[in-house]
Amino acid sequence: MLTHADSSTLDCLRFDNRFVRELPGDAETDNFRRQVYGACYSLVQPTPVKSPRLVAYSPEVAAELGLSEEDCLSEDFCRVFAGNRLAAGMQPFAMCYGGHQFGHWAGQLGDGRAINLGEAVCPDGRRRTLQLKGAGRTPYSRSADGLAVLRSSIREFLCSEAMHHLGGPTTRALSVVLTGETVVRDMFYDGNPQLEPGAIVCRVAPSFTRFGNFQIFTARDDLDALKKLADYTIRSDFPELGEPGPQTYLRWFEQVCRLTAEMVVHWQRVGFVHGVMNTDNMSILGLTIDYGPYGWLENYDPDWTPNTTDAQGRRYRFGNQPKIAYWNLVQLANAIYPLVMRAESLQQALSVFSETFAAEWSATTAAKLGLSRFDPDKDEALVGDLLQLLQAAETDMTLFYRQLADLDPYAPAGSAADFVAMLERNSYAPLAAELRDRALAWFGQYCSRSRSEAGDPEARRQRMNAVNPKYVLRNYLAQLAIDQAEQGDFGLVAELLDVLRNPYSEQPGRERFAEKRPDWAKQRAGCSMLSCSS
Ligand code: AMP
Ligand code: MG
Repeated sequence: MLTHADSSTLDCLRFDNRFVRELPGDAETDNFRRQVYGACYSLVQPTPVKSPRLVAYSPEVAAELGLSEEDCLSEDFCRVFAGNRLAAGMQPFAMCYGGHQFGHWAGQLGDGRAINLGEAVCPDGRRRTLQLKGAGRTPYSRSADGLAVLRSSIREFLCSEAMHHLGGPTTRALSVVLTGETVVRDMFYDGNPQLEPGAIVCRVAPSFTRFGNFQIFTARDDLDALKKLADYTIRSDFPELGEPGPQTYLRWFEQVCRLTAEMVVHWQRVGFVHGVMNTDNMSILGLTIDYGPYGWLENYDPDWTPNTTDAQGRRYRFGNQPKIAYWNLVQLANAIYPLVMRAESLQQALSVFSETFAAEWSATTAAKLGLSRFDPDKDEALVGDLLQLLQAAETDMTLFYRQLADLDPYAPAGSAADFVAMLERNSYAPLAAELRDRALAWFGQYCSRSRSEAGDPEARRQRMNAVNPKYVLRNYLAQLAIDQAEQGDFGLVAELLDVLRNPYSEQPGRERFAEKRPDWAKQRAGCSMLSCSS
């Protein structure tokens, strides 16, 4: 059993553990796998590890918590965020939730390898829950080991921070710590188990509640626990909606629809594919959560999924993410139906998702192209043609939009030749004559559409560069950082983290982080194919 003894640096954090205090917990406190009924959580201790070693930490998240660089480099930091010591006020627990996985109800899932340490009350007055991922078994681990490996921990750490700096709502990551122990993983479930270095990420968010936390109670007909969790969530995370009641539940659901739509618009804008949009991986706060086999579009392809487990049905492909988010919200609507008892009202509330998505996506698309507003009559076709062109030419989505800003569509003759050269330079396949003609035609339409607005070239460039990042966490870059870290060199993890802090800025000397995927990365595991094994 861990103790609060050996007080040290991290005891400066202040905790107020509302979730544990106000919601029903599991009466059983021994740590063995089981079905947990009538409880939102089970108290559980992290499993101490052999020799924790810091790989990286996020200075911004540390600052929000009130931790200095010295704090983060201390031995105590490493001990606490490896789960070897509880800081004063921490009260660790695992949450009970269920979920639909790949479209099918999977029953109880829960935090099988995540352990919440407590709710920190930060210097800015906000609350942030700290959560270890990979800190050992919990009652929800089923047959798995409760651990995480270094490669997936670095991927989660870097991508949470990258998503935040891109402007997408997300859980954050404070740290990655090596455990000094090995973990067995069969990365592609093909009978090749390997020993991999174990690691633990400390994630940070106002709350880690998922759609599945509500679903599990409705599935078990436990309406008392359902109501308690909904009321708690509204009071703590949506206080502006007022006291819980039938009308408030509806307004709350509308707000979840809105937040979820906004999150997916950000994903589509930057070319992020989550990879496992199961309902247990959907945050009630509309945060990107559970970075597993995610990926970033290189060549624009709406059918692409990074997740090998999803290769058959491609349920979680890039272009399907808005539909799946809606499907998941329908499952949440079903889960909270007993609180509302009005199917039509819930159906109506769901339209907030479609409306928000349509409005925000149109505005975002216009901004990506440097237009001041989206004109459906003209722009539906313009955008549709462009996306077909990018897909056919296998053009790198990030590089294309970023470099489109450098062309001047207001110039009298346009710069059609420059456009074709830009397309060619940023595509993964040679540009056939037919595509070249289509490209010329599209650019002509684009120039005349741009000229129909009284546009200022510099304002246009700025508008585009504010929504089209130069730097994203390219799949192969994450893999290079992992390869080096597995050899004991954490330099590239630190450098990537630093590059991704300013994704919209030019960063002279760092152009190598904004280049096309090299050929070697096309078929390499980790760069183009990922499994859920992590
Ligand atoms: P995911 O697909 O990563 O969202 O995980 C789905 C479920 O499996 C969640 O309940 C996780 O907590 C659980 N899980 C995934 N990996 C492990 C592991 N290594 N040990 C215990 N539980 C796990
Ligand atoms: Mg998950």
